[in-house]
Parts: sequence; structure tokens; C-alpha cells
Amino acid sequence: MTLEIVVMIKQVPDSQEVEIDPVTKTLNRMKARNVLNVADDNALEAALSIKDRVDAHITIVSMGPPMADEAILECMGKGADRGVLLTDRAFAGADTYPTGLALAAAITKLGKYDLIFAGEETSDSSTGHVGPGVAEFLGIEQITYTHSVEFEDGYVIGERELEDGVEIVRAKPPVVVTVLLGANIPRRQTLRKKIDAIRKGVETWTIQNLGIPAEWVGFKGSPTIVRSMKTIKEKERAAKMVRVEEIGGLVRELAGNGIINVEAEEK
Ligand SMILES: Cc1cc2nc3c(=O)[nH]c(=O)nc-3n(C[C@H](O)[C@H](O)[C@H](O)COP(=O)(O)OP(=O)(O)OC[C@H]3O[C@@H](n4cnc5c(N)ncnc54)[C@H](O)[C@@H]3O)c2cc1C
Repeated sequence: MTLEIVVMIKQVPDSQEVEIDPVTKTLNRMKARNVLNVADDNALEAALSIKDRVDAHITIVSMGPPMADEAILECMGKGADRGVLLTDRAFAGADTYPTGLALAAAITKLGKYDLIFAGEETSDSSTGHVGPGVAEFLGIEQITYTHSVEFEDGYVIGERELEDGVEIVRAKPPVVVTVLLGANIPRRQTLRKKIDAIRKGVETWTIQNLGIPAEWVGFKGSPTIVRSMKTIKEKERAAKMVRVEEIGGLVRELAGNGIINVEAEEK
């Protein structure tokens, strides 16, 4: 029996190139190159390494503007079998709630699904809501913050990284698994798979394909509103060269200004 795997990916602006618009104080995404969210590459690698061992079929699902098909094709160039892009003006302005809802509706429309992978969070909004949100909308189990995922004897076994250790969770599919940034080393695309991906192409679905009301998604379906954004001014840093005999004075000065804490008595 073929294991049906879905990987949710998002195209994000390259964090090295994003600038803050000095007037609107919002992210100026237009100037940045768009790339596959890095944790999603780790999620894809986790899915592909399962497909290396068992009979599996991988579908990439993404919600975004038409140009997001590039990121989907990149995933297909690495070995995913099918790509679906949810793109429609109705999806614009979504916060994480309708994003999860639309993705869950798309996954339901795909039919059978056993494993749904997501990254732990994105580099542009970084809420980490979407994977768990999709699990809730679908009413299925979730294993979050995993650094390793196996599929054995019909069960998904995920190792979750906690602050003070590792938790090993076993769940019966269908299950959503979110994968930590850096959990693995993502493979590269191959020329053959890239050509296959271009031949197959990416399917585009609109709100009509999902069969849910337009008011449930996008800006209208979003319960949160960003009221304002502030640019935080970093504290100025200074470097000062001191001679060895001046170190004692410098320590007293820094302690006096509350910059460092000196607990030991000077002898
Ligand atoms: C308060 C608030 C208001 C916002 N308002 C707007 C707005 O007005 N306009 C606007 O454009 N955006 C807005 N956003 C951003 C938008 O909500 C997010 O980009 C989107 O919902 C995904 O959330 P995220 O990036 O935090 O994903 P996370 O939850 O951090 O992502 C986790 C994982 O879920 C999957 N995933 C996330 N997004 C997608 C996707 N689109 N397709 C497929 N898989 C995905 C990926 O695997 C990803 O690694 C807002 C966000 C917040 C928190």
C-alpha cells in the first residue's frame, strides 16, 4: 500500500535581503529574492528519506502568489511527485487561521493522506501555528518539533526536541509532523527530476476548487489585525582598548554603570 505523504511548503523572502520600508515600517518583500523556507526543506528531506525506504507518493501543497510555483518545482526537482499551489486573490491577507483552514481543505480534497509534513516555522512570520492548525482542522494527531522521523510497522515515530531532553512519540497515521530547522541535510535537485518536474508542472487551485466560502479565507477570514509595527533601535556598542594595569578601573566603571555584575571580592 502506497503511503500518501503531503509536504506543506511556503516561499519566503530571503531573510538576508529583506528590508524594512522606512515610511510604512513594514517588511519590503518586493526587493528580496524568494526562496523555499529553510525548515520546509528539512520537512521535505524527512519525507523523501521515508520515501527512500517505503513505497510512498509525495504531494507538495503551498498557498501563495503564482510565483510560488518555483518553490514547488524545486521540491519536485528533489523527488516530490506532485505539486499543488493554492493561489487566488481570496487567499490574500490571511493570518495563520485561514492559512491552516485553506491548507486543510486542500489536503482533504487530495483524498487519502497518511503523513503531513510542515516546517517548525517560517523565516518571515515565524508563528509556528500552521502545522498544528492543519492538524486541528483535520482532527488528526500531531508530532511537533521533531529532529528525526521514522515510519515503521504502520506507525510514525518522531523524536521531539524538548528544552531538557528528547521525547519519542509514536502515532498511527494520519498524523501531522513538524520538522525542526536543521534536522537533516536536504538533498539537492537532480537534472532528471528537474526536467520531470517541469514536464509535470504545478496544479493551481483557486477558492472554487476548495469548495469553501471565500469569507472563510484571506483577510476576511482572519481574526487578527496588525495595528502597528515598531523598529527597535539597537543599543549602541563601543569598543575601548585598555592596558593591563587599567583593567581593574574598567571593571569598577562597568560595575558602577550596572553593565556587569561583580560578585567576587577584589583581593
Ligand atoms: C497577526 C498576524 C497578521 C498577519 N497579517 C497578514 C496580512 O495582513 N497579510 C499577509 O500577507 N500576511 C499576514 N500575516 C502572515 C501570515 O499569517 C503568514 O504568513 C501565514 O499565515 C503563515 O504563517 P507563518 O508564516 O507564521 O507560518 P508558520 O506557522 O511559522 O509555518 C509553519 C509551517 O507551516 C507551513 N506553512 C506556513 N505557511 C504556509 C503556506 N502559505 N503554504 C503552505 N505551507 C505553509 C510550512 O511548512 C511552515 O514551515 C500575518 C501574520 C500574523 C501573525
